[in-house]
Order: sequence, then C-alpha cells, then structure tokens
Amino acid sequence: MFGTGVFVFQQYREANYRKQALENILKSYAGIIQRGGVTDALPSNLRVTIVKGDGQVIFDNEVEDLNSMDNHLQRPEIESALSKGEGVTIRHSQSKKQDFFYYAVRYGDNYLRVALPFDLELKSQLSNDNVFLLFFLLFFVAALIFVLVISDRFGNNISQLHRFATATDKGENIELNFIDNELGDISRQIAHNYNLLIESEARLAQEHQKLLESTETSRRMKHEMTGNIAHELKTPVAAVRGYIETLLSQKVPLERQQQFLLRCHDQIIRLSHLIDDISLITKIEEAPTLFAKESVNLLDTLNEVLYDLQEEITSAGDSVEDNLPDTLFVNGSRTLIYSIFRNLVENTLKYAGRGVTISVDLLAGSEEYYTISYRDNGAGISSEHFPRLFERFYRVDYGRSREGGGSGLGLSIVRNAVAIHRGEISVSTPPQGGVEFIFTLAVK
Ligand code: ADP
Repeated sequence: MFGTGVFVFQQYREANYRKQALENILKSYAGIIQRGGVTDALPSNLRVTIVKGDGQVIFDNEVEDLNSMDNHLQRPEIESALSKGEGVTIRHSQSKKQDFFYYAVRYGDNYLRVALPFDLELKSQLSNDNVFLLFFLLFFVAALIFVLVISDRFGNNISQLHRFATATDKGENIELNFIDNELGDISRQIAHNYNLLIESEARLAQEHQKLLESTETSRRMKHEMTGNIAHELKTPVAAVRGYIETLLSQKVPLERQQQFLLRCHDQIIRLSHLIDDISLITKIEEAPTLFAKESVNLLDTLNEVLYDLQEEITSAGDSVEDNLPDTLFVNGSRTLIYSIFRNLVENTLKYAGRGVTISVDLLAGSEEYYTISYRDNGAGISSEHFPRLFERFYRVDYGRSREGGGSGLGLSIVRNAVAIHRGEISVSTPPQGGVEFIFTLAVK
C-alpha cells in the first residue's frame, strides 16, 4: 500500500510538472506567434487557432473547413482568457478526436489559442523518466523481501507457539522447533516452563496417589490389628468369665474353687502378656523414637535374659552355649535388644521341646554391623512357614501355640526391634536340626 501510495503520488507530481512544462512551452509558442515569429521554430504538430472576440474561429492550421467549427466562446480556455487574459485546459478535441492541452491568450480583440496533443500514458512516462521508476521498483522489492524474511522468522515462532498452545490444550505432546531469535528464546522458555509445570503436576498427583494408598494400607493394617486383638482377647476373657460365673452361681467344693482360681490366674497372666506384647509392638511401629538410645552391651543383655528365665531353662533341662564376646556394644535401645533375646529364648522354651541346646554366636562383626546367630537344636519349624513366620499373630500350630500362651506376636516384635537397629532377620534350618535365626544390628 505504501509503495502504491508513493507511486501514485509521484505520478501525480510528474503529471503536474509536465502540465506546467507544457503550459510554459505553449506560452512561449504563443509569444513567438504574437511577435510574428518564425514558423520554422514551431513544432509541426502545434495546433494554432485564432478566435474572434465573438467566438467565431477565423484560423485553424489543422482544420480545413472553418465553417464546420462551432462558436468557441464557451470553451473553458477562451472563457478564462476573456476574464483573466489567459487560460489553459486539457480536454478531448471533438474535431481531432484526441486529448489536447490548450493555451489561450488575448490577442488584440481576438484570442490566440495554441495546443499540443497531451499524452500522459505510462508508456511515455517510462521511456522519459524510468530511472526513478527503476530505482523505486528495486527499493520496493528489496524492502518487500526484507519484510517477508523478518515476518517469516517471527511468524514461524508465533505459529509454533500457536501449535503448542492448541496441542497442550488437547493434552497432546508435540515436537517443537523454534527459530533462534528473541521470540524463539521466549517461546522455548515458555514451552520449557510449561513442561516443568506439567511434570511437577504429574509428580504431585503421583505422590498424592501414593499417600492415599499408604494411608489406606495403614488404615487396613490398623483395622486388621484391631480385629486380631479383639479375637486374641476373646478366649482368655471368656474363660475367666466362665470360671467366675461358675464360682458365683454354684456351690463348688473348696478344692475345685482353688483349681478354678488357678486357671483364672493363668488366663490373666496370658492376657497381661498379650497386652504387653501389643503395646510393645504398637510403640515400636508408631513411636520408635520413644525408645531411649544408649550404648548396649549385647552379652550383658543376653545374660540378663538368661538370668530372668533361669528357672524355666533349668526345669526344661536346656543348656546354653553363650559364645558372644563381651566387647559387642550397640548404640540402641536396651529394652528392644532385651526383647529380641527374650522372645527367642522363650520360643525355644515353648516350642523346641525338652533338653535342647541354645547357641548364640557372633558370625561377623564390622565397624558398622554385627551379625548374630541364635540357634537351638529342638523341634524346628517346617520351612513352608518361613515366609510368614514374622507376621503379626502368625503361629505354626495355632491350637498348641495358644494353649502354650503364645500370642503370635513374639517374632514380629523381634523383626521390628531388629529393623529399628537398621538390621534384618532371617530364619533357616541348621544341618543339625532345630531352628536358626540370623540377624544383624547396626553398631551406631
Ligand atoms: P508367639 O509369640 O506366639 O510365641 P512367635 O511369633 O514368637 O509367636 O512364633 C511364631 C511361631 O513360630 C510359633 O507359633 C512357633 O510355632 C514357631 N516357633 C518360634 N520359635 C520356635 C523354635 N525355637 N522352635 C520351634 N518353633 C518355633
């Protein structure tokens, strides 16, 4: 549009300039004629007309039959010459069928009119003044190419950005290829930030999902645990209730009364063990930091357990090979390490049978971990139970175990206590029979 504007304006100026030049030329020709000048100096295509004061044409060098010409008083150039002394017009000549540039001037009582064919066609323009046009076209094409290249560079990035926006709106992932310029850099940054946002949103959603799942798992575990506890409490409580109700409602001989009371006592002891185990395992799982940490000597702790269970060990006819060096110190909880050994020894007493040998050995020791083996050569455990052995309330022989006062929590407490000391525990059957538990404890 700018190019066209400049071009039209230039054309207009050019035409004006030409008209002005033509007018000057015609004026000078008229002057020559008025002065009676030489006709040779005038161009051959110059039309000369002399019009009388009343408008009648009395001479025209290009029209033969002057009578055919109408009154010229109404011609604009003549009218203007009448009022102002001279006048110009460009118009189509009826007699010559061509555009003429007319110049009229008063000439005594008459009017002298000179005219030249007027041609402002582009063809003549080009041939006369093509330097400007050429220069203009060249400049125009160069500017056009420059604008196209620039707009293409930015336009490409904008259309890429547009594609990106519509694709992300639909949740699609597309390959982007921004051109290197300011807009490209900005677009790349926008796309990059957007992708980061999407990634972190996805990560957040994933974490949220995980959190939901783990809350659900822990809720389910708690629910299970509550169910198990209720189930475990039911039998001893029902038994105690039965004995007491019998004692209250019937006349029971004194000897039987004594027996009932002893059984009640047994059940209450079982209950209190169960409650101790439940509170210990709950504390380990839910508030492990509540266990005070101190330097614990493993041998001393084991000896403490053996001392506390001395009577039972002796009455079972068991023997203990205690091979731990007395230099093993663990930075941990004395209570929990005590319950590890206590549960293991109690299990041997409950399940291994009579006259067995318990061996405790240090298998490996480093600055970081101690690996300890606890073994007895008693009844042992069939390996099919190994995978679930450390689960809460899992028992090998359900009926017998409950009879013996087992809650099924012992090994679960052991595994949790080991885990709090950043260790692991496994169970196996040693070559000489019985059962072997191998566990690690972190030194610090
Ligand atoms: P509880 O607290 O009832 O004793 P545990 O979790 O300690 O239960 O033990 C689970 C099961 O493993 C027991 O029911 C018992 O059958 C078996 N068990 C544990 N220790 C031994 C062992 N030294 N010898 C044979 N069986 C064992």
